[in-house]
Amino acid sequence: MRTCTSPAVPANDALTPFPLPQQSRGCGVVGRIDLGFPALGEAAGEPCWHIATSSWSTANSISEALGGTARPFGRLPGLEVQVVTEAASLSVLLEGPDSVSFRMARRGGRGVAHTCDGQRFLEPAGLTGTACGCPPTLTARRAAALRGLGPKPDIELVFLLHAAPELGLFRLNTSSWDFAGDSLRALEVLRQVPSPVLCRLGIEVVEFSSPDGVEVSYRRPMLVVAGSAVPPGEE
Ligand SMILES: [Zn+2]
Repeated sequence: MRTCTSPAVPANDALTPFPLPQQSRGCGVVGRIDLGFPALGEAAGEPCWHIATSSWSTANSISEALGGTARPFGRLPGLEVQVVTEAASLSVLLEGPDSVSFRMARRGGRGVAHTCDGQRFLEPAGLTGTACGCPPTLTARRAAALRGLGPKPDIELVFLLHAAPELGLFRLNTSSWDFAGDSLRALEVLRQVPSPVLCRLGIEVVEFSSPDGVEVSYRRPMLVVAGSAVPPGEE
């Protein structure tokens, strides 16, 4: 886990499904990235990353690196500017295993009822380190969560933009089951190879027909390890 004392970006807001461990929050983070959330009745448009930040100069630098234009943004406190980039796939740099904060969490009547790493409790404090009873595979955990019996992924990814590492760290929060698999695979690599590690952060459009014939489409973040990184800025 990262440790720091002066978070630059608020981490706990309406778009974060569960609060993350305090240690992981905000260390030099200058912006937050997401898939884009169209307003009610607004078409989703082409997939592209949205990046919110507190600084117009950072936003303009993001625009120069990734395309798109900066615009005022009022949905999250402390993040007054947003860039709707022209990029659906980003080259990013991960600085070791601390770049991925993976946990599973389920809300109860009085907040988070079950927080674990998939095998052992992280919370509540009295149970920390003891076996939590979650199934060993993500598929089985997903089935349990669908039945309301288990926690869901709660993942934070912190990374540098390969095209502009000087801007600082950016953060992605997601509860995507697909991304959970991606992030666990990335963690395995990050634990074994020198940092930074070059990865591709993409947006996958998933489309399928449900068993009762309903056409379903959703977007999910995707993380693929590309290999040992070219030094930042030498792309
Ligand atoms: Zn568990």
